[in-house]
Amino acid sequence: MILLDGKQTAAEIKDELALEVEKIKKNKGKIPHLAAVIVGNFGPSLTYVNSKVKACERVGFNSTLIDLPEDITEEQLLHELALLNKDAEIDGYIVQLPLPEHIDEQKVLMAVDPDKDVDGFHPTNVGKMTLDLPSFLSATPYGIMELLKRYKIETSGKNVVVIGRSHIVGRPISILLSQKRDFGNATVTLVHSRTKNIKEITQKADIIVVALGVAEFLTGDMVREGVTIIDVGITRLKDATRKRGYRLAGDVHFESVSKKAAYITPVPGGVGPMTIAMLLKNTLSANKKLNS
Ligand code: NAP
Repeated sequence: MILLDGKQTAAEIKDELALEVEKIKKNKGKIPHLAAVIVGNFGPSLTYVNSKVKACERVGFNSTLIDLPEDITEEQLLHELALLNKDAEIDGYIVQLPLPEHIDEQKVLMAVDPDKDVDGFHPTNVGKMTLDLPSFLSATPYGIMELLKRYKIETSGKNVVVIGRSHIVGRPISILLSQKRDFGNATVTLVHSRTKNIKEITQKADIIVVALGVAEFLTGDMVREGVTIIDVGITRLKDATRKRGYRLAGDVHFESVSKKAAYITPVPGGVGPMTIAMLLKNTLSANKKLNS
């Protein structure tokens, strides 16, 4: 079994990005600048945003954290985004989800300038991705594609099962893997909460992308020998033996599945760090596009 080391791969990508920043500096170009908007503080959101800001520092990007109160009105938030859209210093920005209930998430995502939409959530970018046109790819599916590419995992002609059909992970990765492209060309089955007999489907899969948010859902009896496993899930499980009171669990029961897998991502240290690295890669692309 080979561990798909997202932490190590993400570190390599960050080193490559840091070199790009050095080149930009040498040419007296504009340093990439990512802004992150957070509204209130929901669960692990602040931790996620802080790690994104930290990652910017590590590669030499500029970053701005816009920390807004939980009771901000939708109108005020949309005004903040309009300012970011106009701000020539900001190359790209993200709005950390989830948002408080009184704010319409769809309206907010639609308000992001597609050229600064480094999360790749705007319908313009999703539409372009679907049509095989250049676009910002949503960072998590982009990270999975990059991991497959760097570990040279063949996907062409393979049976891939994606568990979960969310707009940010399951749906886009199912599209990318089925496209006529390198590390695409797979035969993809997308399963969800209404799917009957998931086990029968996963048992036939060469590659399984697991993104449903149910800790340790995929167990050893659900997979065949030699399978490749991409575990996207991150759930905090209470654990009194840990100093912080919880442990992170993936959607895969690592102990039983890893015994049969040829390749598997760990949690933590798999898809998570790749997501952040690809967000930075998107920010560099936005910087190049906006400043060329
Ligand atoms: P989501 O929006 O909640 O979507 C979950 C999907 O899983 C839905 O399509 C749902 O089906 C399906 N599902 C739920 N229970 C199921 C079951 N018992 N059997 C089959 N399908 C089931 O989740 P998400 O945003 O994609 O996130 C999934 C997980 O990935 C979470 O743990 C999240 O924290 C993690 N995540 C990690 C990263 C990272 O960077 N590592 C990034 C994003 C998300 P229905 O559509 O029928 O409801």
